[in-house]
Amino acid sequence: MFSYRHAFHAGNHADVLKHTTLIALMKYLTQKDTALTVIDTHAGAGLYRLDSDYTETSGEAVEGVFKLLSGQKISETQEGRAQGATKKVAIPAPIGAWAPALQDYLDLLRGLNPQFAETGDASHLKIYPGSPFIEQQFLSGRDKLKLFELHPTDFKSLSGNIEQLGVGRQVTVAREDGFEALKTFLPPPARRAMVLCDPSYEIKSDYARVAACMADAVKRFATGTYVVWYPIIPRPEAHDLPRKLKTLAVKAGRSWLNATLTVKSSKLTTDSAGQVVRPGLPASGMFIINPPHTLKADLQAALPQMVALLGQDRNAGFTLEHGS
Ligand code: SAM
Repeated sequence: MFSYRHAFHAGNHADVLKHTTLIALMKYLTQKDTALTVIDTHAGAGLYRLDSDYTETSGEAVEGVFKLLSGQKISETQEGRAQGATKKVAIPAPIGAWAPALQDYLDLLRGLNPQFAETGDASHLKIYPGSPFIEQQFLSGRDKLKLFELHPTDFKSLSGNIEQLGVGRQVTVAREDGFEALKTFLPPPARRAMVLCDPSYEIKSDYARVAACMADAVKRFATGTYVVWYPIIPRPEAHDLPRKLKTLAVKAGRSWLNATLTVKSSKLTTDSAGQVVRPGLPASGMFIINPPHTLKADLQAALPQMVALLGQDRNAGFTLEHGS
């Protein structure tokens, strides 16, 4: 059985990139009057606690969402001082105003964490939304969300978390292989769909499956918006995947966008005891087929701020390419 649990990684730099992009996509795609079908082939648990054993053990959110939040200067308000309290409010980031896409990401976090929203104090950021909760937040009555998750524990958590929303049949959760399940939903009834394909790439074959699944999806429904997250690691399959997706989009005559965020070098280092230290995930990317025309500008503004706040060494940077 799979050992990957997204709870260890929730709120890391890859989630900041993925979820900021996802919010920008959902915001645009749900503005139209026609119903949208959203299919999340690898949903995870839906919601995560940032103070759980998982996240605290891995500490990945510290290098991700918490580091981003350190871009907020925290100051005492007059009101707080007058009461002798330590009430804190967030004031705009030192980098200037937040890019709109990052502002939307932070607003969504505030919506789930009332104490954080009230105080601006990152220590009150306890709940982190996974892709299903982000997608659900933007749906209106006519839209549908289909979620797939294979891991038994995460499936159970996801089902419970979605149940609590009380949204009935608008959101469905299935313990099925998301790559296979996608086929049965394309083309969607109202001919508008966004698909998020976000596997753990724990199994090497995931890279090839993503490419094959996207090729099949574009054949079934050419005008859908297809969103793939991928890790950038020293492994041939990881480098090949965005190239394959680009070739597929170009051959099908579809527009595409590829955004990457690097936070550190991918080189192995040694610690003071001479032990080899693996760098962890240094970079990741989002490849989108049929992106909305607004996405490039959204990311053009957000990516430099992510680099400024999440970058760990001089290798930090971003790329943003697109084609039509
Ligand atoms: N999309 C989620 C988010 O952004 O919050 C994170 C998903 S996590 C990277 C990948 C998930 O896919 C894991 O929870 C794993 O158990 C699940 N998984 C792995 N293989 C799968 C498959 N073939 N079909 C559906 N889910 C799968």
